Amino acid sequence: MSPGKSVTWIVLASALMLLACDREKGSAQNQPASPPAPAEPVNINFPTDTGPAPAFDAARAMQYTKEIVKFGPRPLNSASHKKVEEYISAHLTGDEVENDVFTADTNIGKFPVHNIVAKFPGKKDGIIIFASHYDTNYPLRNTPYVGANDGASSSALLLEIANQLRGKQRDGYSIWLVWDDAEEAMKPDTEVDFMSDALYGITHLAEKWQADGTLKKVKAFLLADMTGDADLNVDRDGNSTPWLQSVVYEAAKRLGYQSHFFSRTLPMADDHLPFVKRGVPCVDLIDFNYGYNNVFWHSPQDTIDKLSPESLKIVGQTMLESARILDKMDPLPPK
Ligand SMILES: [Zn+2]
Repeated sequence: MSPGKSVTWIVLASALMLLACDREKGSAQNQPASPPAPAEPVNINFPTDTGPAPAFDAARAMQYTKEIVKFGPRPLNSASHKKVEEYISAHLTGDEVENDVFTADTNIGKFPVHNIVAKFPGKKDGIIIFASHYDTNYPLRNTPYVGANDGASSSALLLEIANQLRGKQRDGYSIWLVWDDAEEAMKPDTEVDFMSDALYGITHLAEKWQADGTLKKVKAFLLADMTGDADLNVDRDGNSTPWLQSVVYEAAKRLGYQSHFFSRTLPMADDHLPFVKRGVPCVDLIDFNYGYNNVFWHSPQDTIDKLSPESLKIVGQTMLESARILDKMDPLPPK
């Protein structure tokens, strides 16, 4: 995750983003942009029975997190970044994988970017996306910053979800797992606005899928970011789709995890925004209170000892249960 250094900054960044969107839609440019109102739960008739809790091996997800962290900082164009690309791909051997490789023209020059997408087919027409970025912040490349929570934990969580989906024909929607690249900013947050300096990988995927018609099939986009904190409090993101947040909350409730979700509302600038902008229902699952006053975020203190396998399991199972609820909601609420 790479919003600003304080909640105030995030609100500002989000407001600017909304202003940019408004402009594209042709509304008055001098109309003040304001952060969205806190989302209220939406009343939905949820399916009554989705079966036993989805399986998720928390210890294995934690082991993956440790292994990713061991490669060290993984900024764009580094040897350790290449190793993590290979590490993720090696765990998807035999799966249907789309490699989205391109050169990003960033604020500090051209960089190779590699999004990895694993596709697990379902019988129902439509796609649910689970996403996580795996790169670490470029300005911190020469520091002992390993992003254990910010990027490694959620990427490991998706690897474990792949294990659970592999070899099983889903009755519901297809699930595509996206390990996206170049989410983090290229310049220090103090120098450049995050929205013009980050999200290169996921923006490229959203544009590509819009152009080839894939985007129309995407029913929901669930993003995991900073979801390994042992003290897990997933925020209610003000830029996410309220009805999809209600689905996630319902899933968490069914699993007995609701106390870990949505006690605080924040508008987040994160990987979901290119899909939000294109009308895809999105939810950002992020705990943006990592250590007192978020002090571990983008800090060498973002280390493995702050994380817990239980938190990976809470988020992983909630995402899988959300997919099962979505499978049975017919029709889905309008976007
Ligand atoms: Zn970050």
